[in-house]
Amino acid sequence: MEIKRILEESSYYIMNTYDRYPLVLRKGRGMNVWSSDGKEYLDFVGGIAVNILGHCHPRVVIALQKQAQRLLHVSNLYHNEPQIKLAKLLVEHSFADKVFFCNSGAEANEAAIKLARKYAKENMSGNRYEVLTALNSFHGRTLATVTATGQKKFQKGFEPLMPGFRYFDYNDIGSLKKTIGEETCAVMLEPIQGEGGVRLPSPDYLKSVREVCDERGLLLILDEVQTGMGRTGQLFAHEHSEIVPDIMTLAKGLGGGFPIGAMLSSNKVASAFQPGNHASTFGGNPLACAAAVATLETLLEDGFILDQCRRMGSYLVQGLTDLKKEYPSVVAEIRGMGLLVGMELTRECASIVKACMERGIIINCTAGNVVRFTPPLIVREKDIDHMLDILDDILGRLS
Ligand SMILES: *Cc1c(COP(=O)(O)O)cnc(C)c1O
Repeated sequence: MEIKRILEESSYYIMNTYDRYPLVLRKGRGMNVWSSDGKEYLDFVGGIAVNILGHCHPRVVIALQKQAQRLLHVSNLYHNEPQIKLAKLLVEHSFADKVFFCNSGAEANEAAIKLARKYAKENMSGNRYEVLTALNSFHGRTLATVTATGQKKFQKGFEPLMPGFRYFDYNDIGSLKKTIGEETCAVMLEPIQGEGGVRLPSPDYLKSVREVCDERGLLLILDEVQTGMGRTGQLFAHEHSEIVPDIMTLAKGLGGGFPIGAMLSSNKVASAFQPGNHASTFGGNPLACAAAVATLETLLEDGFILDQCRRMGSYLVQGLTDLKKEYPSVVAEIRGMGLLVGMELTRECASIVKACMERGIIINCTAGNVVRFTPPLIVREKDIDHMLDILDDILGRLS
């Protein structure tokens, strides 16, 4: 009966903003998590694309333990070494020259929007402040980022929304061109729409967006909060398209499970921020940065994990494609890049997620009818085989 008491207390004390599964997770290791009643689960959600190295990766845990004994927090009135080390690592492995640290994806996007507006004020002619975003996008839940999010269901009830945002159709370069106006300063885009149902860019779409931004003198902000940190088989998803953004945001996988966000840009754009323009008390906290340094160093070491991610991603897509052939009345489409994979169903996916959970598999549902797989990048063939066997069984019963 313990589980019943925990769930009661949870709903009694915690604000009712999440529709949670009746599952209390207590322990995790690698690909597995265990619930309060001792049941083992194979985790294909990975904290929503966060636990890229699996649960409690020893290098991340040890880095946290060491840093926790040394220094937890100092604020940004002073320098701290883990923050500098992380910034250097990110700069050395990306297009960017400078990094701003914060604590979440929404905050990273807020910082990006503020930087774009400030840069526009100082470097673009006229009065340019407007940021264009795609319909069906997801950029966060603060007032600015929920406005940037091109989905009404997240905005309803919070009006008036922030001025200075307009929307275009994803994967439609003509729609973007038509939406650009006299006040536009930037385009903000997810390389792959994650929350929106794992929607991939059509070939050359990102390249065309970059070209349009260059022609019209606009900044390109790529929201890689979900697609970054190796998720798609490259460190950052835009590397597949051979373009670079002016600003990029990161969070989710960055700390390997520890909360941290970052906003990166070129020197030219970064120079619009001067002391006092933007800040975060916790941003770049030594503990968070130590976790992120350990995560990034592990991810980058000899490219093994990125290679694994690409191979396992193809393996998963192949397996799901076989299931689609077997159950065409339930499975509509398989989409994915690396280990960001979606299985679109012809119906709501809640019952499949529930059935999987009963059988010890954790998967996630997004956009109502898309089963989303975002496992740790260390997922093995046998984990995928096991998950697919159970999914096969469940789909068989449904169709
Ligand atoms: C999750 C997500 C966010 C928001 O991140 P939070 O850390 O929840 O604020 C923003 N953009 C994208 C693309 C995301 O997937």
